[in-house]
Amino acid sequence: MEFSDCVFCKIIAKKLPATVIAENDQVIAIKDIAPKAPVHYLIIPKKHIVDVQSLQPNDAGIAAAMVLMATHLSKTLPGSQACKLVMNNGADAGQVVFHLHCHFLSGKKMDAL
Ligand code: 5GP
Ligand code: ZN
Repeated sequence: MEFSDCVFCKIIAKKLPATVIAENDQVIAIKDIAPKAPVHYLIIPKKHIVDVQSLQPNDAGIAAAMVLMATHLSKTLPGSQACKLVMNNGADAGQVVFHLHCHFLSGKKMDAL
């Protein structure tokens, strides 16, 4: 389901441009428009899900597809074997776009959380 005021739904529907890194029937991986690391991609489910709390038991396949996309990226992108996966959940945690996504960060030495 597409939400007309959602920037990620518009990207998924190809109504807004984005650099697509990988895509399958469940998720898309795009370059972040304001990268915080040499490699900064966003792994986004094609279904509009607001945040982690909004995931339902029948979304288990989508959640798995997000993690497996990270597996694919880390195995195929040079220098991305070490990577950090971040999901900002809720405004107070830094979530700005309210369509579930996972940040894939790599390409530099990063500190432990
Ligand atoms: P959040 O803070 O919600 O976890 O992260 C949202 C991310 O989406 C930010 O890193 C921001 O740079 C990225 N972003 C916001 N709008 C766009 C856009 O139109 N295109 C792309 N590629 N990334 C976006
Ligand atoms: Zn959306």
